[in-house]
Amino acid sequence: MPEASLCEKCGVREAFYIKRDSGEKLCKKCLYRSIERNIIRSLSRYSGLRREEKILYVDTFIPNIWDVSLLKIIIKISSNYKNQIYLLTFPWKQHFYKDLMDSIFQIIIDPVNYIMLCSEGFNDYISFITCFTKIRYLIGVEKALDMNIKKILIPCTRNDVFLKNIFSFIYSAKEMISETYPQRVFDEIIISNPIYNLVTEDLIALSLTDVKDDLVLEKSLQQFFSSIDHRIKEFLSKFLNDEIIREMYTLGLSSREFMFSHPNLMSKYYSRYKRCRICSAPIDNEKHLCRYCLTLHSSFEKISKIFR
Ligand SMILES: [Zn+2]
Ligand SMILES: [Zn+2]
Repeated sequence: MPEASLCEKCGVREAFYIKRDSGEKLCKKCLYRSIERNIIRSLSRYSGLRREEKILYVDTFIPNIWDVSLLKIIIKISSNYKNQIYLLTFPWKQHFYKDLMDSIFQIIIDPVNYIMLCSEGFNDYISFITCFTKIRYLIGVEKALDMNIKKILIPCTRNDVFLKNIFSFIYSAKEMISETYPQRVFDEIIISNPIYNLVTEDLIALSLTDVKDDLVLEKSLQQFFSSIDHRIKEFLSKFLNDEIIREMYTLGLSSREFMFSHPNLMSKYYSRYKRCRICSAPIDNEKHLCRYCLTLHSSFEKISKIFR
């Protein structure tokens, strides 16, 4: 970018980033505002959030450079509506958020036992990954039932939505598709994705406007990779190295139209199926639950009570 390039939104401050979807050159402040507006739109469209309601925000298993910056925006938005945020995170990520402790309640859950249930019950690669992805949803729903919280946010960038869609399509893992929906409902709880319309690159740029967190992040990443269970590490490296997925992923990243239009195609494709009563995955049995929820739900006390 030429040195004197100005922000195309405000025309005042220096531009530092070209936004991926619009091609606009933005300054830090205008990038922040554009991401904030994008999240507000998704929240009002998908979350059904009301004033002063509690929110359960379910973290990703894997650390992202934008984790803290994104949560800060969500905290800011929700404080305008007096919503209290409960952050459900995992032992290897808890110290990420130590600067935000005044504005959130942190709940730490070790998911390793649940993930191991997947490796016992689903020992082929495709099923294991699908099961692994369900675990985050189930942990969130279980905690929300436990705490009587009606709104869950499970952030998943548009790139990851795309990746899961492609995975589901290539490997006929139809249960994966529900993990990409912007909104789901279970027993009066609305589960939604606040970053359904945001791409990873914009969030990375956002985190660069927040440089103070970089040192914390670097330390956290090191701790994460040295402490994590070797079985999960093995699984992660396998997932990220899969050739077909990587190629399709790259294709999606190079075509914005493809990345943003595929969910409509996929929902048409799956519209003839019934839905799992817990996770909303398409099913073709008469048991009302997908094969993952069927296997896993008995390990979640509150969820399984609903089916007793
Ligand atoms: Zn600007
Ligand atoms: Zn299910």
